Amino acid sequence: MQWYTDLAIEETISLLAIDSPTGDTAEAESHLLARFESLSVSARRLCKGGVLADLGGEGEGILLMAHTDTLGAMVAEIKENGRLRVSPLNGLEANNSETENVRIRTRDGRTYEGTLQLCNASVHVNDDYKKCERTFSTLEVVIDMPTSSAAETEALGIRTGDFVCPEPRTRVTESGYVKSRFLDDKLSVGILLSLASRIRETAPNRHIYMLITAFEEVGHGASFMVPGDVKELLCVDMGCVGDGLSCTEHTVSICPKDSHGPYSKEVVDALVAAAEASGARYALDIYPHYGSDAGAAVAAGNDVRFGLIGPGVYASHGYERSHRDGVENTLKLLFAYLGL
Ligand SMILES: [Zn+2]
Repeated sequence: MQWYTDLAIEETISLLAIDSPTGDTAEAESHLLARFESLSVSARRLCKGGVLADLGGEGEGILLMAHTDTLGAMVAEIKENGRLRVSPLNGLEANNSETENVRIRTRDGRTYEGTLQLCNASVHVNDDYKKCERTFSTLEVVIDMPTSSAAETEALGIRTGDFVCPEPRTRVTESGYVKSRFLDDKLSVGILLSLASRIRETAPNRHIYMLITAFEEVGHGASFMVPGDVKELLCVDMGCVGDGLSCTEHTVSICPKDSHGPYSKEVVDALVAAAEASGARYALDIYPHYGSDAGAAVAAGNDVRFGLIGPGVYASHGYERSHRDGVENTLKLLFAYLGL
């Protein structure tokens, strides 16, 4: 199990090194296609983005899902001072984005570095530094190029609609903690890639597909018709950790209900039974503010059972933290659930 846990974390780190905000995921998808190819798994890119892989196996189809798109931002305005006002891509929070380094990706393929700073960010100068509310109107990207006017910034090739990608700051501690932005949901993609290598060594008694989606953070990642023999969707996405919940970074979370409603009782029951049988440390938690790709696929009209599990991730949509124990317990549960 340790080998698969190490592999999942390695795969996660590789993927985290590729910027992939929702809407700009092609590079991450090419990387994923290459990873599946290295396992001799047939995989293809979907028209709207995302990768669908067929891992083979006999029997009823199950589709495992995780998402490779992340939070980020777009250039909304090139300001008179040459700096950038940005529009967040869905759930990026201004409060935890201040002082984050970013990469600006232009449409002609150039990349510039910069930092999201409070406007007038010097404490020694700004009388209102402490009381100023942090929003994407009071923050701006200071570009690490000698520009002080809109014309100079435009001359760099930067335009409205360019993607702005926060630095993930990935770090693995000796004590086993994995810290990074975007563990939601690249940690689960790493887990699925590790699982794929296990599936290739066995003869699964279900036909297993994997779907790595590219629009989850805006709600419609898996809103498409699933392959015909698929009767069940299992979404692997970050498990919530926080006040009132029992999951930690060391456990795998099984979600009976999120803010969109309950998951299939049959699936939740079977997941709990598999966790008990395998000795995976797990938590059952209701997520207060959460929607998943499984819910999106069902809302799109697919007649399937659906469930949601994932490694516990603290400080979600901020500088997130998980632990290799959470990865290991998620893999243990998946192995048991799929009979691998
Ligand atoms: Zn997610």
